[in-house]
Amino acid sequence: MIIITTVREMQDWANETRLQGKRIGCVPTMGFLHKGHGSLISKAAAECTEVVVTIFVNPTQFGPNEDFERYPRNFERDVELAETCGATVIFHPTVSEMYPNHFSTTIHISGVTDKFEGVFRPNHFNGVATVVAKLLLATKPNIAYFGQKDYQQTLVIKRLVSDVNIDVEVSIQPTFREHDNLAMSSRNVYLSPEEREMALVLSQALQTLQRVISAGEKNRTILNNTLQQTIQQIPSAIIDYANVALQETLHEPDVFNAGDSVVALLAVRIGKTRLIDNMLFTMV
Ligand code: AMP
Repeated sequence: MIIITTVREMQDWANETRLQGKRIGCVPTMGFLHKGHGSLISKAAAECTEVVVTIFVNPTQFGPNEDFERYPRNFERDVELAETCGATVIFHPTVSEMYPNHFSTTIHISGVTDKFEGVFRPNHFNGVATVVAKLLLATKPNIAYFGQKDYQQTLVIKRLVSDVNIDVEVSIQPTFREHDNLAMSSRNVYLSPEEREMALVLSQALQTLQRVISAGEKNRTILNNTLQQTIQQIPSAIIDYANVALQETLHEPDVFNAGDSVVALLAVRIGKTRLIDNMLFTMV
């Protein structure tokens, strides 16, 4: 396992590795790795010769009142988990390495960032797009792996890579869940045992929606109400959004058509913890 902390060394390693004809997979993360990250790393290891896991808690994607300072960190454990899953390199730059004095560039992607997370976390996707561009240009992977867990983020990254011609294949992997269906997240450690129980309402809402969609419902208001009413059964759960939209554009027609590919997107606050989840469906 190689640990690299500077962009220059990272690019030198990537250039050399590509010259040797090896395939580089990259898994960008903010660390505090769990089995969800592990599933991306294992997939990368199955498809690539070298797997770079980037571990960087990116300050620019957090809002002023968000959890940047208290975001959980455990570098030693991350290195162990990453290596067990097949990582060969860890890229772990400091904040000043990524954002030196006079850093002045922000990548803003319009359209897919206009709603949902983009409304509740106004500069979040600028931070994500900018840091992901930097990480991909530093690690130079053939394939970069991202989780469907952050569904809107996957749309942002696909747009980014296409719009600015980053020469990488984007691979989206399914959400890895706990035995009781809670989507794995580094932020789950914030939950008290009672909150952990309440958090199950997110996956329950998605499963309820699945039944309603399977029964043929296509009216968006009814579908959104299904999600929202299930979540409201937990009185202390605060809904940021719980909406059904078209998968590719996030447009929200009043009524969906049979065959439409849709996504249900949830962001719910339980106590001080903000959780997101989503599920993909095809309208019947
Ligand atoms: P994060 O460290 O939370 O920024 O996540 C790093 C990458 O892992 C992102 O592409 C996430 O979408 C992905 N990821 C996070 N949680 C999961 C999960 N439960 N299953 C699959 N991928 C995940």
